[in-house]
Amino acid sequence: MNDSKKKVAHTIAEIKKALEFNDGRLVGLVPTMGALHRGHLSLIQRASRDCDAVVVSIYVNPTQFGPTEDLEGYPRQLDKDIELALGAGADVIFAPADDELYPGPVLTEIKIHELEGLLCGKKRPGHFSGVATVVVKLVNIIKPDIIYFGEKDWQQFVIVKKVFKDLNIDTKVVGMPTIRDADGLALSSRNRYLTQKQRRSAKALPAALELAHDMIKNGERRRDKIISAAKEVIAAEPSLELEYFSICRPENLIEVEAIKGEVLLAAAVHAGGARLIDNKVIKI
Ligand code: AMP
Repeated sequence: MNDSKKKVAHTIAEIKKALEFNDGRLVGLVPTMGALHRGHLSLIQRASRDCDAVVVSIYVNPTQFGPTEDLEGYPRQLDKDIELALGAGADVIFAPADDELYPGPVLTEIKIHELEGLLCGKKRPGHFSGVATVVVKLVNIIKPDIIYFGEKDWQQFVIVKKVFKDLNIDTKVVGMPTIRDADGLALSSRNRYLTQKQRRSAKALPAALELAHDMIKNGERRRDKIISAAKEVIAAEPSLELEYFSICRPENLIEVEAIKGEVLLAAAVHAGGARLIDNKVIKI
């Protein structure tokens, strides 16, 4: 067994043993589904700056995929991910098999009221319930002091914070800025599904958000006008199909009529089989 394999725990007993230090060490957790890119690595690097021991979980969680979604085809590259995560500052990797996390029929899950039915949740029923449940399971196993999430998945970030508050989970939730490619497209494990043509078109997603952002910065306050300008940017790319473009409150995702204070611009598009999301927060 090479050295890096020794830092991988596949079972709950192994990860608990790896974290048995009882000396007050600050533990950080970065939950991922693997296929790691610079976005994930930025979270691991931050965790490694903040914490004494960093756990990266790599687990493609089946309960957050809908029946027609990409669970089967989701990219899996565990050996490469282990090297990348350790290189970015992870101390131990937790990579459980499905029957380790879900050994029998699941009778318990976290239900998210209201927030689940907005933005991405409208077309992905049960997704955030699956995310919240697996995150709480990971927190109960690893007991981190701090957990790290990317702000690219803004709704996930908001929901996790609310679940922890509602369930009195003391782990601190830290959000990290979105890491992008040179043309603005947010890095995502799903970008590898894109053909070259779709990849070129996909930059219209951050461009539409940027345009909406600039319109607001320049004083535009008519919501319809901003949304239709942003939609036009997406519509100009035939390989993209818009799922939603929202202007809402960052903390509760409720659509805003009056554009003032802090607002979240959030959008989802489909490009072939890939579903891409992005957002921008703006303070007026
Ligand atoms: P995933 O593996 O897609 O479940 O993502 C694991 C974590 O990485 C989540 O907290 C994501 O929000 C975060 N993440 C994904 N893409 C990016 C990105 N481009 N920049 C920063 N964080 C990201």
